[in-house]
Amino acid sequence: MIDSTLLKRPEGYIDGQWTAADDGGTFEVLNPANCKALAEVPAMGDGETRRAIAAAKRALRLAPPYSLARRREWLTDIRDALLDEKEEIGRILCLEHGKPWKEAQGEVEYAAGFFDYCARHLDLLASRKLEERPKGCDWEVHFRPIGVAALITPWNFPIGMIAKKLSAALAAGCPTVIKPASETPLTMIAAFTLMHERVDLPPGMVNLVMGRAGPIGDLLCAHPDVPMLSFTGSTEVGKGLIDKSRDQVKKLALELGGNAPFIVFDDADLDAAADNLIGNKFRGGGQTCVCANRIYVQAGIAEAFADKLVERVKALRVGDGMDDDIDIGPLINRAGFEKVRRHVADALAKGGTLLAGKHPDDLDPDRGLFYPPTVVAGVTPEMECTREETFGPFVPMITFDDEDEAVTAGNDTEFGLAAYVFTGDDERAARVIAGLRFGHVGWNTGTGPTPEAPFGGMKLSGIGREGGEEGLMEYVEPQTVPRGG
Ligand code: ADP
Repeated sequence: MIDSTLLKRPEGYIDGQWTAADDGGTFEVLNPANCKALAEVPAMGDGETRRAIAAAKRALRLAPPYSLARRREWLTDIRDALLDEKEEIGRILCLEHGKPWKEAQGEVEYAAGFFDYCARHLDLLASRKLEERPKGCDWEVHFRPIGVAALITPWNFPIGMIAKKLSAALAAGCPTVIKPASETPLTMIAAFTLMHERVDLPPGMVNLVMGRAGPIGDLLCAHPDVPMLSFTGSTEVGKGLIDKSRDQVKKLALELGGNAPFIVFDDADLDAAADNLIGNKFRGGGQTCVCANRIYVQAGIAEAFADKLVERVKALRVGDGMDDDIDIGPLINRAGFEKVRRHVADALAKGGTLLAGKHPDDLDPDRGLFYPPTVVAGVTPEMECTREETFGPFVPMITFDDEDEAVTAGNDTEFGLAAYVFTGDDERAARVIAGLRFGHVGWNTGTGPTPEAPFGGMKLSGIGREGGEEGLMEYVEPQTVPRGG
């Protein structure tokens, strides 16, 4: 069992109080590195969520609203608390998610960056006067908090994902009901411990429920006192949330699945492209929605690029994220492991060539959830790994001949979250990037989102943006006041 000063009460949090489940029920949180229990946390449902919504509603202040100065203080206090406790939150995150401890600490810094960004740009939410006087009136625009916001987060960035949502919600003055993924609730509880102990938030401003995703999600969708729901997770669940919140005409912010192409042209710096692919593809063990999922390499350089890639992949160390010098931890659970194994097996059965890694028949999740980084060449569009997001350390390589083919293949997905283009030709880059229907396109970089810039999906990858000025505006509703006389 985990022992931490940030997990003194591994419970939910409603109206400023730590709270067990009404029926006393709990569920186990496992360490994927050894499949042993780390903690038992409350299995909550409809009743607790209803109380959390009521507490949040009481915390909403419209007249007068929470001042910008007070909101800025919440944001900077959370930022400082996260940075002060970076190592311990990183340790909890590593233990329940599996990603290397150093990488986990990087995620805590990334999370703190969202609170920092919102604090520094809060004046964007100040009321403004129009310079013009249309219709003989003075016009003012106020940015009102939309109201209680439900925030549902996935397991792959246990602190990063909530930071994106909560920073913008608090900046707007919106009280929140938060539901973390059942695989990784401990990092969230640690963040709540910090908010409880170090941040002067009104009771009900932040509430934490965990447990039965179905009933909790259903209530958050159907409840008239929750006008906004922000969700990051699978497209399948996201579509269900759209259906269920229809009657409330709820504002939705959805960051859903991806299927990122990584396109390398023959005029690219191949070493830089290979380094960036390693950094991008194996972050979080390949379990992020911005990880490259389909690697397109121009035919003339395919072999040279594969050599560079395989050399780097073979140097990666897989193991328990708490050990020193580990690059890749375990996958989150058995289902995740089986999905990667299925994709690799399918690619090999359909004619792909294994360049690095092990044959799937030689792997057994009963011996641990550590999946060896794998490279397969000769991948074709019929293979499962090009149609679906693998979410694991598997690099499928596909060759292409010309620019049009690369753009068409890159866009041949219902998703549109992240893409990457490597080329030394600026004009080609401009053409290719404009043709790719993805919300984030890295040019000669495999970097993902940052607090300072908007991030979100096109097509089935979602609605809305997180980060940047656009993300800061997600939780406010403009109220326009023409003044006559
Ligand atoms: P992933 O594949 O990343 O686990 P999910 O969409 O299954 O993605 O989960 C993302 C988040 O959505 C988690 O917090 C999960 O508990 C929650 N979730 C799962 N099913 C539902 C549902 N029916 N309603 C609301 N939230 C759900």
